[in-house]
Amino acid sequence: MSLDILEEFHNPELCRKLLDQLSAELEGELRFMEVCGTHTVAIFQSGLRSLLPEGIVHLSGPGCPVCVTHESEVNAFLDLAERDDVIIATFGDLMRVPGHGGRNLKAAQADGARVNVIYSPFDALKLAAENPDSTVVFLGVGFETTAPTIAGTMIMARQQRLKNFRVLPFHKTVPEALAALMDDVQTRIDGFILPGHVSAVIGLEPYRYIADKYQRSAIVTGFEPVDILQSLLDMVRWRNEGTPKVTNNYTRIVADEGNKKAMSVMHQVFQPGDALWRGIGMIPGSGLDIREEWADMDAKREFGITIEEVPPLPGCKCGEVLKGIISPEQCPLFKKACTPAKPVGPCMVSTEGSCAAYYKYKVD
Ligand code: SF4
Repeated sequence: MSLDILEEFHNPELCRKLLDQLSAELEGELRFMEVCGTHTVAIFQSGLRSLLPEGIVHLSGPGCPVCVTHESEVNAFLDLAERDDVIIATFGDLMRVPGHGGRNLKAAQADGARVNVIYSPFDALKLAAENPDSTVVFLGVGFETTAPTIAGTMIMARQQRLKNFRVLPFHKTVPEALAALMDDVQTRIDGFILPGHVSAVIGLEPYRYIADKYQRSAIVTGFEPVDILQSLLDMVRWRNEGTPKVTNNYTRIVADEGNKKAMSVMHQVFQPGDALWRGIGMIPGSGLDIREEWADMDAKREFGITIEEVPPLPGCKCGEVLKGIISPEQCPLFKKACTPAKPVGPCMVSTEGSCAAYYKYKVD
């Protein structure tokens, strides 16, 4: 795709026109939630948040992989890192996520734990080949976006006959989480801006229930200002007409049927399981467990890891933020005890976390 084409998607005149149409057609209030950390940042970076009509309420949902990783899962990472026979392989954004007592993987690494930051899961295979006397455990977090690559890495590990490569499977799936949010009486969401990356893998079908069962609209959306404004305008119109829809406005990247190859690789290795989400709790069927045929690479089975509810980090309101019940500024620790330099909760750790985005971009 040429950059010229993309330029049309942040054309100021078109944006102004869409904003005017939004103001003219909005009836009452529209509370929309985006479910992707990249959308959170895009809405702030483009300045859209301050330009939206007053009645359009922007909520950031559980779309940042690090933010929804449960305290109990972080504790499991830390416990594994303490083992002399284990080398941890992880993406860098997990390093500063706090677990028990505020401890994180960075602190464990400083104390001598073998924690390696990698840039691709395939780097973990290299690490395993170079360290045959240790078990290399890759920390599998994220959504349907990363799960196919992790599955592909496991398939490669088997092809390479690596005996010391494991995955700790804490992946989560988005459609089930959206249902849990709509079932929660505390949340008030009129429609969703659906994540572009996740949808590129799973397509539209898994979201159909949002209109059929919950009578809300949900739109797969790109990350440019025109993409976002057009989806908001569609959402307003469909609500005015009383005809909620699930549609795809990001057709330049996302196919309605998703990426069948990626899904096939993912399903070869993973099957649906239950998952604990930070601040939301247990959501049946919203996780990805490793299938029996791949049990030899399952760190959960090998190390007997179980995940259970633990008290949230003292004072941190990430749970309420992730459900759109409060905005980050309503957390008493925001910009005081909790800053990107010294984060109390995960929503301030990741650059895609809502609290970090509000801290960096929100003008008081
Ligand atoms: Fe948690 Fe910090 Fe966000 Fe408050 S500001 S919800 S303590 S991450």
